[in-house]
Amino acid sequence: MKKGTIIKVSGPLVMAKGMEHANIQDLCYVGDMRLVGEIIEMRHDVASIQVYEETSGVGPGEPVETTGEALSVELGPGIVSQMFDGIQRPLDTFKAKTNSNFLVRGVNIEALDREAKWAFKATKNVGDIVEPGDIVGTVQETKVIEHRVMVPHGVKGKLTAIESGDYSLEDVVYKIETDNGEKELTMLQRWPVRRGRPFKKKLNPDKPMLTGQRVIDTFFPITKGGAAAVPGPFGAGKTVVQHQIAKFSDVDLVVYVGCGERGNEMTDVLNEFPELVDPNTGESLMERTILIANTSNMPVAAREASIYTGITIAEYFRDMGYSVAIMADSTSRWAEALREMSGRLEEMPGDEGYPAYLGSRIAEYYERAGRILTVGSEEREGSITAIGAVSPPGGDTSEPVTQNTLRVVKIFWALDSSLAQKRHFPSVNWLTSYSLYLNDVGKFMDQDLEVNWAEMVQHSMNILQEESELQEIVRLVGIESLSEKDRLTMVIAQQLREDYLQQNAFDEVDTFTSRKKQLYMLDLILSFEHEAREAMRLGAYYKEIVDGTVALRDKIARAKFISEDNVEQIRALKDETKETIYNIVAEGGMTQNA
Ligand code: ADP
Ligand code: MG
Repeated sequence: MKKGTIIKVSGPLVMAKGMEHANIQDLCYVGDMRLVGEIIEMRHDVASIQVYEETSGVGPGEPVETTGEALSVELGPGIVSQMFDGIQRPLDTFKAKTNSNFLVRGVNIEALDREAKWAFKATKNVGDIVEPGDIVGTVQETKVIEHRVMVPHGVKGKLTAIESGDYSLEDVVYKIETDNGEKELTMLQRWPVRRGRPFKKKLNPDKPMLTGQRVIDTFFPITKGGAAAVPGPFGAGKTVVQHQIAKFSDVDLVVYVGCGERGNEMTDVLNEFPELVDPNTGESLMERTILIANTSNMPVAAREASIYTGITIAEYFRDMGYSVAIMADSTSRWAEALREMSGRLEEMPGDEGYPAYLGSRIAEYYERAGRILTVGSEEREGSITAIGAVSPPGGDTSEPVTQNTLRVVKIFWALDSSLAQKRHFPSVNWLTSYSLYLNDVGKFMDQDLEVNWAEMVQHSMNILQEESELQEIVRLVGIESLSEKDRLTMVIAQQLREDYLQQNAFDEVDTFTSRKKQLYMLDLILSFEHEAREAMRLGAYYKEIVDGTVALRDKIARAKFISEDNVEQIRALKDETKETIYNIVAEGGMTQNA
């Protein structure tokens, strides 16, 4: 290993001379303490190194040693259920829980446990020809995740040895006869975090990823392989939305990156997730969760790396054929870390002090999401869905991080502080949010549920759009100026907002709504509308309908609290709606006849 000498230390940035042998992205050990760092700029023989640990106490004259390798993650059994920092050092649960998630500096800890033995089941035989990406065997990593051991990139040939049995990560598990001789392989691989793992082909991400959150699944759906941004000011509900998705979405695996936000939020996840049951598997949520924590109290440079560590791990499981969701909370804090490093490098600042390459960095990250066909001789499909919180200062979405994110994501859940103040949660603004997958998901749901889902959704959105226009008229000339028909529209819109879109994350039943229940609930409100409009056509007055349905509307409002086991009760309410409104018409007719 070659060495240089430190000439300057500026926070997380260290400059060293005598580094002519080094390259950008080389991993280094910095100072006598051997702190981990990465070269981010080279000028002649001077390297600028971003250091992933606190640099206090490090000074000029101390050595820098380059490894010639890029910042990489370890991939193999033992990742799932773990919590790592931004450069994949394991943070054990105790440290995180006591909120002192600082690791001892300069200690080179291995990301994955070398002692643990894993039961490897060979799925290929000696003599089989394999290529990169092919699965040679499996390990039951957690109760719900089967780890599929894949031939690493750059290796192909004939299997000369493979045997089921208990192995640790560094044991040789199989051998391959390659063009360059026999290669011994373990279950452990490495991959540089800043480079996307290869795949065969990108597919259109047109299948819904169900989150159990009504405003998302119904109005602004996300798909397996899609990318979404959740911008919103402080307190708007970004973290709660991401936690809800991490808990309930119907993916195989979740990578949750806590990036620059408060440490106690990750502690909440650590305390809560093991207790929670995944509605899709019936097992604890931690069985399918990987946590990456670089919270606000941890070194800023590692925050910059954390999202790459997260997405590289996500790609590895995608390549096994899984659907993975990755959440980053928040990408604004990540961008601030980027800005800080750029400032220290004295680069030419772009918009609001962010470096000129902010946009391309954001795009590179989200482009690693997608639904793909994996490499290898077996056709496997995998997906990464990426969801990033954006916390624009003052909620101003015209700022660079939001704008650059909007250029690449196709789903936008705009959280609205005025809705949050009114306790309308999730505070997703239904007029400004969008999902470019609405049509794809609509088609899928129509076929799958044999209903006219797309039409129901469009109709509901139209009502809310109409409401906002009517509200304008009411503000100008008063409610009396509205026609009977328009006043009914206002009632239905209120039902949609309060009885459907509002969803309490902290209510045991309301926190998750299955697709079937979403259909029944929306259908109930739209049936109410249909019957009420029909009644009006037959001569009933707005006031008669509203007065005669107080109790009924109250029941409709409480449909969200009907448990998944009893969803047929929502169907029964639909019959009750018909009957109640029919009676209003009939009685009205009697008074007219009398
Ligand atoms: P942000 O991350 O945008 O700063 P949080 O996600 O921490 O905001 O949400 C702030 C608060 O808003 C939460 O502590 C909670 O009280 C409330 N909240 C947000 N979303 C919901 C929800 N779906 N149901 C109930 N309360 C919510
Ligand atoms: Mg938050």
